[in-house]
Amino acid sequence: MQGLQGKTALITGASSGIGQAIAVRLATEGCNVAINYRKSPDAAAETAKQAMEKACRDVEQCGVRSQLIQGDVSAEADVIRMVDAVIAKFGSLDILVNNAGIQTESPSHEITIDSFDQVLNVNLRGAYLCARETIKHLLSQNRAGSIINISSVHEVIPRPQYLSYSISKGGMGNLTKTLALEYAAQGIRVNGIGPGATVTPINESWTEDAEKQAKVESHIPMGRAGTPEEMAAAVAFLGSDEAAYITGQTLYIDGGLTLYADFREAWSA
Ligand code: NAD
Repeated sequence: MQGLQGKTALITGASSGIGQAIAVRLATEGCNVAINYRKSPDAAAETAKQAMEKACRDVEQCGVRSQLIQGDVSAEADVIRMVDAVIAKFGSLDILVNNAGIQTESPSHEITIDSFDQVLNVNLRGAYLCARETIKHLLSQNRAGSIINISSVHEVIPRPQYLSYSISKGGMGNLTKTLALEYAAQGIRVNGIGPGATVTPINESWTEDAEKQAKVESHIPMGRAGTPEEMAAAVAFLGSDEAAYITGQTLYIDGGLTLYADFREAWSA
């Protein structure tokens, strides 16, 4: 895709799932990739290996580079250190992908405040902190850039039993729009993607059980869960110059999940 070659991208939570696929895809498009991980250096190294292997046969020749950066996105000092490290290595940061996310399940009236704070801190505060540091850098270099928030269909679909997750993604939608409006004139585009059910570790409760997966997929108009690579393709598009006139949008990649699937068949006259 146009405009990605030679850019630098920071992807949070990139040691698994959608984040890993995004790092691999952006590297194949010619981006240097900074791979943030929280706990698993080996898994993050695997992301880098896959990214480099797919990007080019001879890493030195193709020039794409990778960097592993440990850090908790909800911790301000970690985020500042992380963005500084990317700039120290690559000289700039052009694309931020706010991918790190967690969820917990509980009836809403039983959520402990610690659990509530933890989900909001990672999913929303973390995304804001990373965006803040990236925007500061872009403004200081008078540089255009792109921020892509990995939201969810639950940005717009309420999700009982997952209140903190649901409201974190609802908040992320507003984060996308507000930052997009505030920094449009400086050439900083801010968009999101809203994945539907995707086969990744966050969903191992159903991806590792064929019967449960079939049940999940029965609710999806296209009849199947999505893949991390399908999410990564949309991120590459939004980060590229092909999306140069798109800002403030969340693109749902969900096999039709946000189309009110209950209306597939007429149930009222
Ligand atoms: P995943 O569990 O594989 O990925 C989440 C990543 O975030 C992990 O690598 C984890 O280590 C990292 N992470 C968690 N807390 C962190 C922290 N404090 N600092 C840094 N990294 C941290 O699951 P995934 O499905 O790949 O999720 C990626 C994103 O996609 C999440 O934001 C999730 O909400 C979103 N999403 C996933 C689905 C789905 O069905 N899989 C659907 C909609 C949205």
